[in-house]
Amino acid sequence: DHELGRPTVVSQASRLADVRYDIRGPVLRRARELEAQGHEIIKLNIGNPAPFGLFTPDAVLSHVTASIADSQGYSDARGIAPAREAVARYFGRLGVAGVTPDDVYLGNGVSELIVMALQALLNPGDEVLVPSPDYPLWTGAVNLGGGRAVHYRCAEDLDWNPDVEHVASLVTPKTRALVIINPNNPTGAVYSRATLLALLEVARRHNLLVLADEIYDQILFDGAIHHSAAALAPDLPVLTMGGMSKTYRLAGFRSGWLVVSGPREPIAEYREGLELLANMRMCPNVPAQHAIPAALDGGIDITPLLLPGGRLRDQRDLAWSALTEIPGVDCYKPAGALYLFPRLDPEVHKIVDDQRMCIDLLEQQHLLLTHGTGFNLPSTDHIRVVFLAPVEVLSEAIGRLGEFLSSYRQ
Ligand code: PLP
Repeated sequence: DHELGRPTVVSQASRLADVRYDIRGPVLRRARELEAQGHEIIKLNIGNPAPFGLFTPDAVLSHVTASIADSQGYSDARGIAPAREAVARYFGRLGVAGVTPDDVYLGNGVSELIVMALQALLNPGDEVLVPSPDYPLWTGAVNLGGGRAVHYRCAEDLDWNPDVEHVASLVTPKTRALVIINPNNPTGAVYSRATLLALLEVARRHNLLVLADEIYDQILFDGAIHHSAAALAPDLPVLTMGGMSKTYRLAGFRSGWLVVSGPREPIAEYREGLELLANMRMCPNVPAQHAIPAALDGGIDITPLLLPGGRLRDQRDLAWSALTEIPGVDCYKPAGALYLFPRLDPEVHKIVDDQRMCIDLLEQQHLLLTHGTGFNLPSTDHIRVVFLAPVEVLSEAIGRLGEFLSSYRQ
């Protein structure tokens, strides 16, 4: 039924029907339109440190620059040896036993590795337990892989720790894996050791592969301690993800790692699938891999930014205080990561459509935030604020949010 002279309509694959990534969805598109019209927008929507003047130390860049000439060929599909060795040593320091460079797979950001890990794992209808709220790539990648993301509740009144009884109640014969995002995006929670042990016990009892996204493992406030899932459960197969985007402020390099730990035998066949996918994309970008040994072995330490008087700490504190002063807004004070996830009391603000609210906020106040349902939260009463901007910008932005909320009705 091809008509001469008429272009064929190209539709998208039906498996994308359940795949969403609202952080860069309709709200951001509206922001781009406003910018094209000449409006200046305060953008607190993406955890991208460099545009806010948070740069990687010079030593990391100079090592990458010096390695450029050696970066012209494809590398081993898993990544260059010096970087995989540095990641293996790093995991030794985290207390994860037995990690060798052969257990390390590098990728173009954790994002690529999340998609690969799930593509290699899932059969149609397989279920994966994913936190709610989550970093939405996890839900999207499960659905893209033909599986079904089943959301477990993280409880605001437990400082956003997972509700482990709820997690356990969701396990079915189809459940294959448990996703743990700790420190968490979007809530800023850093899970207690007891919560993690209880979560890992669910995985142990039901033979679930543990997928631990620990990209914010070093971004901790107020003495919070991060426990690596892999260190707490040496008897379980765990895939831990981390990378250069946040702690080392190199999001544009697209450089991350996936580390396999625990008993190797039960997941040997799965790993062949992972290797196949690694081979099919040839290798991750080679120049960006050279940043890894420079950062991990170079004694680069982000704590000065996190201690009292440090920039990230000051920004978190100011943003948290300003948000919680707005009538009808309360907020857990994040112990880690780069985000605040305030709650707009439904008794006061009555938001029915939180994406609509973020578009209205953008149009009225030229402030870009992300709606809570974009993180697979079932209720419409949260928004995410990235606190990477300098305090003056945060103060202006949260002032605008307060003004907006004082008269906003849906
Ligand atoms: N995982 C989490 C929890 C994140 O917040 C992000 C980025 O915001 C990523 C993964 C993706 O990181 P990358 O830049 O390494 O792809």
